[in-house]
Amino acid sequence: MRLPGLRPFGATSWSIWSLPRRVLVIIFLVEVLAVVTVAASLRDGVGPLPEGWQWTLAVLVGAGVVSTEASLGVERVRHHNYESPHIDLSSVWAFAAAVLLPGPLAAAVVAVVHGHIYLRVWRHTGVPVHRVVFSTATVMLAVQAAAAVIRAVGPTDTFGTGSGLLGVVLALFTYAAINMVLVVAVIVLSGPSRTVPTFLQMIGHVDDAVLEFATLSMGALVAGAMASFGPAYAVLVLPPLIVLHRSVLVRQLEEAACTDSKTGLLNAAAWHLQAGQALHRAERGHAGVTVLVLDLDHFKLVNDRHGHLIGDQVLAAVAATVRGEVRDEDLVGRFGGEEFVVLLLGVDGDDGRAGAMAVTERIRSRVAALRVEVPDHHHGGVVVDGLTVSIGGATYPDDGRDVPQLIEIADTAMYAAKNAGRNRVRMGSPARTSTEPDRQAR
Ligand code: GH3
Ligand code: MG
Ligand code: MG
Repeated sequence: MRLPGLRPFGATSWSIWSLPRRVLVIIFLVEVLAVVTVAASLRDGVGPLPEGWQWTLAVLVGAGVVSTEASLGVERVRHHNYESPHIDLSSVWAFAAAVLLPGPLAAAVVAVVHGHIYLRVWRHTGVPVHRVVFSTATVMLAVQAAAAVIRAVGPTDTFGTGSGLLGVVLALFTYAAINMVLVVAVIVLSGPSRTVPTFLQMIGHVDDAVLEFATLSMGALVAGAMASFGPAYAVLVLPPLIVLHRSVLVRQLEEAACTDSKTGLLNAAAWHLQAGQALHRAERGHAGVTVLVLDLDHFKLVNDRHGHLIGDQVLAAVAATVRGEVRDEDLVGRFGGEEFVVLLLGVDGDDGRAGAMAVTERIRSRVAALRVEVPDHHHGGVVVDGLTVSIGGATYPDDGRDVPQLIEIADTAMYAAKNAGRNRVRMGSPARTSTEPDRQAR
């Protein structure tokens, strides 16, 4: 599952000056708040230092560095090729530091571990410094808040008492909530629309949330083992942490295997699979669905005029336009070349069909209104407009009962739209074709 609005985590797409002002304000406030919080904890002093704090500090920093070094390969692939989730496995060490050390020392662990990750991973994968600073600031805040919760709820002896455990669990939720809300808020606000984020967007990818809790739980266990048996026990968490880290890559590879890299849409195989599943659900629920086949008109001319690289960017812009016109649960895929497929869910009865027709017509007119601005180093920028698309549609159950049948009917309808002059929508098999009023292709 890919959540719309989360794309800005692509390593190259987050230049600070391209961010909306509201996002810059949030980033600035979070960073100032982090500095103020750490300064306040310094002012309060470190208090009575826990016994053996030097070892705890050294082991947490050392284990953070070793775990980053051990996972360099995975991290670089992860950051380089995919949108990274907002989870950082270094929270194991940050959370353990929050539990075991006074505020300023925990902040020092975060600073060193993040600085090392920057030098060894993020710097090489083009993650901009301002993003590193922001994510370090959110972790600093989360650590200070978690430490405050533990101090407020738990007794001095955090491990071995019920209230100590409660304090750790509450601190874990506090840490996760602060980290997620801040990071996801910035991502969502950086997105193209100002729409209110959905609940899922706010908690991020469900898998990411599970991973965050797994990481923090490991942080709590490390802290418990270190406090109860000695700092050296931290080494026992390194092997499971590395395995956990690999599981992140597996998930990202799975996602990549379903994604068309040029447009970010589902690829043809994944679309077919998911469309088949959606149709089964529709059958069981006696609901309708509509399948659309879209083919850009005279796209070869765009390539001939501007070159294939600009053609690729135009394809990506059209894909984003189509994706933006349908609901999250509708399926949008790249069929191949300059052809796209869409599955619209919940198209029931005459109303539903009229709704699907309205959506389809809206897609057609949005593509026709699209202006794609492509920066060009030689000519200072190119604007591609005047694009049009021909769309054919087929509705389950009236036009066909399985995905191949629906595609065949929609494809034939799409060719009918082409033959009728392009920049048109045609629905259903020729016998029962209905159309919106034709508009001439530009
Ligand atoms: P029509 O209106 O009949 O569909 O005309 P057309 O030019 O779009 O159709 P045709 O199928 O003849 O050509 C499709 C063009 O799409 C040819 C190819 O150069 C271009 N194309 C296909 N895939 C890609 C791609 O991934 N990137 C770019 N830049 N162009 C592509
Ligand atoms: Mg084509
Ligand atoms: Mg075409």
